[in-house]
Parts: sequence; structure tokens; C-alpha cells
Amino acid sequence: MDQNIVITTQGLTKSYGHVHALQGVTLEVRRGEVFGFLGPNGAGKTTAIRCLLDLIRPNGGTVRVLGLNPQADPLAVRARAGYLPGELRLEDNMTVEGALRFFNRLRNNKAEWNFTRRLAERLDLDLKTPIKNLSKGNKQKVGLVQALMHRPELLLLDEPTLGLDPLIQQETLRLIREAKAEGATVFLSSHILSEVQEITDHVAIIRQGLVVEVAETAALINRALRRARVRFRQPVDSTALANLPGVKILARDDSTGVLIQVEGEMDSLIKTLAAYPVSDFETERPSLEEIFLTYYESSRKEDK
Ligand code: ATP
Repeated sequence: MDQNIVITTQGLTKSYGHVHALQGVTLEVRRGEVFGFLGPNGAGKTTAIRCLLDLIRPNGGTVRVLGLNPQADPLAVRARAGYLPGELRLEDNMTVEGALRFFNRLRNNKAEWNFTRRLAERLDLDLKTPIKNLSKGNKQKVGLVQALMHRPELLLLDEPTLGLDPLIQQETLRLIREAKAEGATVFLSSHILSEVQEITDHVAIIRQGLVVEVAETAALINRALRRARVRFRQPVDSTALANLPGVKILARDDSTGVLIQVEGEMDSLIKTLAAYPVSDFETERPSLEEIFLTYYESSRKEDK
């Protein structure tokens, strides 16, 4: 396996009875990147992540993680990865510190305790609190600290900022960026598209157990339709604009304003506009949110 590829799956399938959770998932994650795994509820994200650690066995297909086959060598893969599960189970009769020391023992005390304490401080997590008194968000912080504390070369994070307040969400993103800067590869699932847009290099969209799109995050946003709002100094006949390839007039707000949708490059629009008395020109790029809503909505329509 190419040393620069940290995760590959080929035609991964998994069924729970008659539910086909994964229907042939093929993915490739490169060393040192942050890879976002997106999709509506029930699309198969958690199932795929669990297959990477052999926490569940796929029915078919192949998986390689860090050059290893997790089904043949699950402990070796788990020792080199940090995993934040969707639902972390913790023993109620421990404190946060006790739980973290327990996780560390499972990993041969690989984590430096000072680093672990610093992670907890940055997430505003009190080490002395009994697990049974923790709120949902604070349990999520324990999950994050145990995933990061041994500075693993691979992070598998199932919805890392779920239930966290906005400040802690931002701190979590900083921690993920720092892990990447130190060379870690990060594979994360998320429903929060603004954060995916902020931190991922590539994204894959999974829908009904199938990957329907894999793209560089920035390219996906660039490729999407964008809008231009043009204001003319005086009323003009803008029919020539509507005839340009890839250009569609969405609205004319009054005699001097026009909202245009552009597919692809802006070049022909801008050159044509040069002949008009333009007083203002603004472009809007769709957010990742808008792009994904199109995918999610088409999946919902197909479900019906
Ligand atoms: P979410 O965004 O809601 O967390 P997900 O993309 O992580 O969803 P999965 O949890 O992988 O989706 O679930 C994929 C499908 O498999 C769903 O239809 C789910 O109901 C089903 N499923 C998952 N785990 C089990 C299980 N243990 N037994 C039966 N069905 C399951």
C-alpha cells in the first residue's frame, strides 16, 4: 500500500438484517489530511468508521488502515489510532481523571499526563468531577481527551463537536488543526457543515450506504453555482447577459438591479458587463451548507 494512503476501503458492505447500512463504500484518505465524512442521519457514517477499527465486521469488501488489515490485526490498528465514538461508554463510579488514567493504561501509559491535563484544561473539563455527574457535553470532552491524549497518528472522530458549546467547539477545531500540524491524519464525521468547510481538505458524501461524491473541499465550493448581484447606474437592457452560456437571470429587483446565477467561470459575464455602466458588483459563493442541502434533499426525494 502507498505510504501516503492511510485509509482505503474497497466495496465495503454491511447489512443489519434487512437494513443495508453500507452498499459498497470505496474511500481513500491521504496521510496528514483532514477528511470529512458527511451524510444524513442513518447514511452509514458510524458503521463505516466502526469497520475501520474492526469494532464491527463488514459483510464484504476490503479495509486497510495504516497499511494493516484491521480484521487480521485489530489491536495494532487501535493502538495507533485515537477514536471518538458516537456514544462513549464510561464507568459511573470513576472520576474524569480515573477514566482518563484507565484509558491510558489500556494504551500502555503512552500519553504524557501533562499533555492530557492541558487538553482537559483547554476543553474546560474538570478532572475531579465524578463521571456520574457529567453533562452530555462534558462526557463528549472526556471522549475527545481520550482520543487525543496519546497523540495518535490517526484520529477517527465520530461527530467531534456534538453537544459542545460554541467556544469549546472552536477549541476542539483548534486541537484538530494542531494534531494535523503535528502530522496526524484525521477522519471525521459531522453534520456541522460550517466547521467541515473550515477544517477539512477533502470531503466524501455518503447517502444510503453509498459514497455519492468525494471532492477537495475548496474545489467543491468553487465548482458550485455562484450568484452575482449587479447594480447599474441607470436602467439598461440586460438581455445580452441572459444569453451568455452558463448565466441565468434569477431576479430583477428594480430597473437597475439584477441577480444573476453563474455556472463555471465569471469571465464572460465580467467582459460583457464591462460595456455597461455598473455602479456595484457583488458575488456570493454558496456555503458548503447550501451545496450539501442539494444532495440531502435529492436523497430525500428519491426515498419517497
Ligand atoms: P447518524 O448521522 O444518524 O449518526 P450514520 O450515518 O452514522 O447516522 P449509521 O449509524 O451507520 O448511520 O446507521 C446506518 C444504518 O444502519 C441506519 O439505517 C441504522 O438504523 C442502521 N443500524 C446501525 N446500527 C445498527 C444495529 N446495531 N442494528 C440494526 N441496524 C443498525
